[in-house]
Amino acid sequence: MIFQNELLKNHTTFKIGGYVKFFSKPKNVKELVYVVKLSKDKNLRIIPISNGSDIIFPDYELNAIVIKLDEMKGINISDDIVEIFSGEGLPKLAIYLENYGLSGFEYLYGIPGKIGGAVCKNAGAYGVEIKNLLLKAFVVNWEGEIIELNSSELNLRYRESDLLKYGILYKAIFKLKKDNPENIRKRREEFSEIRKKTQPYGIPTAGCMFKNPSGNSAGKLIESVGLKGFRIGDIKISEKHANFFINLGNGKAEDVLKLMEIAKKRVYEEYGIILEEEVVIIK
Ligand SMILES: Cc1cc2nc3c(=O)[nH]c(=O)nc-3n(C[C@H](O)[C@H](O)[C@H](O)COP(=O)(O)OP(=O)(O)OC[C@H]3O[C@@H](n4cnc5c(N)ncnc54)[C@H](O)[C@@H]3O)c2cc1C
Repeated sequence: MIFQNELLKNHTTFKIGGYVKFFSKPKNVKELVYVVKLSKDKNLRIIPISNGSDIIFPDYELNAIVIKLDEMKGINISDDIVEIFSGEGLPKLAIYLENYGLSGFEYLYGIPGKIGGAVCKNAGAYGVEIKNLLLKAFVVNWEGEIIELNSSELNLRYRESDLLKYGILYKAIFKLKKDNPENIRKRREEFSEIRKKTQPYGIPTAGCMFKNPSGNSAGKLIESVGLKGFRIGDIKISEKHANFFINLGNGKAEDVLKLMEIAKKRVYEEYGIILEEEVVIIK
């Protein structure tokens, strides 16, 4: 159940990351509690991931345990209330719930995350974010105890939350809106089309690198300082959307961080705007 020396680039959509000393994929809450308690006893740093689509691990070996929640699956529907386990992916969920005439997740359809990461980052798109849908979170805290939190206790805000102050989410309860499946499908397809036209698709990225500054677009700012297509090693700023960095094959975290610094510096020099990281950077 606990593996040693796992290569993290195999667990991120950016295909970046060196080895971590310990790695675990609990299948249920009992296993998760066990791993958290054991890690606590051994004084190990715990890093949860769900699909690794918003995280950059270092190239060097991490002295930690990465707990990947993608095998904790399950969806239980009761009228417009839905219980979803941490390892369920947003694209699959959107289609599944659409068939039940439940609206909310179609907005998040193109986000390649799973519920654990989506709650942690308050994932959102096209005007809807997790905060609008979440009622409760069930968490294994850092002591290995199960706790129940109301959505408001997580302080969900723009691509941030306080979830990691509490522990690891293993399931969440959402309240969705009833609608005709056909209407939901149309919205999902519409958002999906926009995404394919405006963002790099099906290649290794970690989504948006920076948050949009208030009233502005990080992508437009990076583009306007002439950095579209700029490259360090195998990491390149996307020609399609400058807030996405692409791994051309053998990209290194070190090069991602250098490129982020250059983008931040140029945008600051030109506009006096400080770009803030959206992607989670593990050091
Ligand atoms: C092509 C592409 C497009 C994207 N588009 C969008 C978009 O439109 N909108 C948007 O909001 N995001 C977008 N993202 C970013 C990302 O997909 C989302 O933030 C997603 O919700 C992250 O989910 P994940 O499961 O991959 O999280 P991970 O990357 O695994 O983790 C992200 C954070 O959550 C924490 N975490 C993960 N699981 C748990 C858990 N069970 N309990 C506690 N903490 C946990 C991790 O420690 C980390 O801090 C995009 C990414 C890509 C690659």
